[in-house]
Amino acid sequence: MAMKTVVALPGEGIGPEVVDATCELLMGTGLPIKILTPPQGHPVPEETKRAAREADGVLFGAAGPSTSAVVSWLRWEMSAWAGVRPIKFFPGMHSPLADPEGIDYILLRENSEGIYPGREGDLADLVKLMPNLSDRTGRTVKEFGTEGRFAVKVVTPRGAERIARFACDLARKRQALGKPGKVTCVTKSNVLPRTDGLYHQTVERIVREAGLPFEHFHVDDAARRLVRFPKSMDVVLCMNLYGDILSDLGAETAGGLGLAPSGNFGDGWAYFESVHGSAPDIAGRGIANPTATIRSAALMLEHMGMSAEAERLDQAVARIYRDGKVLTPDQGGTAKTREMAQAVLAAYR
Ligand code: ATP
Repeated sequence: MAMKTVVALPGEGIGPEVVDATCELLMGTGLPIKILTPPQGHPVPEETKRAAREADGVLFGAAGPSTSAVVSWLRWEMSAWAGVRPIKFFPGMHSPLADPEGIDYILLRENSEGIYPGREGDLADLVKLMPNLSDRTGRTVKEFGTEGRFAVKVVTPRGAERIARFACDLARKRQALGKPGKVTCVTKSNVLPRTDGLYHQTVERIVREAGLPFEHFHVDDAARRLVRFPKSMDVVLCMNLYGDILSDLGAETAGGLGLAPSGNFGDGWAYFESVHGSAPDIAGRGIANPTATIRSAALMLEHMGMSAEAERLDQAVARIYRDGKVLTPDQGGTAKTREMAQAVLAAYR
């Protein structure tokens, strides 16, 4: 197997703890991987951008106040428009649900449009520019007065189409593995018929054209269903903000935020990171759960053409939870971050 280069960007908070433990694990597997750790910083140094662009895989830790530029660059400037967040329960994971066994779906987050990244302004400017912009009751923005702020939500047919096609590809791959191949679209198209409505209609058209099962839920209903009927989900395609919120919810149903991985894909670009953030409340104590980052590394291995090794790493994680002996405190154990990652390595071997 040819040597692959991985760029590891730890971020801050628990990021460095979980990324270091994961990199040590990767090196221990004996896979032909070279790991580079170029400098972070604000703005992101050119040499780091170059190294990440040229790498076969990019693994990010967690963003905080001094490393937000890194994630901004990885996700928004590099336009990683598809956020793939697998929600999968392995027996032994500490789910708050009574019967979590069988939860296995992908929450797909549209990463590039909607209300992210923030575009905000003063109400006074909006009133000046669009004095007649009104809600459904006919009330114009002028009625708010000029003190206050606004935010802009953007939906384009191009953005909705490309994420819908991405969802169809994922659904087809899952169908080939015996899953339903269903796409569940999540919007608030009843309240926002023009923006969310455009997204809803575009996704529905493309999924139906692809001949795949389709359903749509408004985000409030979807939140309830992800708790009540998580096993009925397959590919859950959310608009940006809804995906941000519901992926934390989904992660908890399958055992916790410390276990949820993600891969972020753009055109010829991808990077991998845990769903959780920098968790300042537990940072620096060596007790963060490394599972989310290890599973993100497994997604990265798959992306780098090492599917069998990715599957083997996932199986090693599954074994650690099944055994239940070396788990971090969030999962009811007493293990440290590094100990847990090393136990996964031992299971991998
Ligand atoms: P940020 O603002 O960087 O997103 P946050 O405090 O909003 O950080 P997260 O970092 O996403 O949120 O995590 C929320 C909580 O979940 C943490 O405070 C922590 O208690 C728990 N948590 C998150 N990740 C882990 C982990 N890897 N291991 C154990 N607990 C975790």
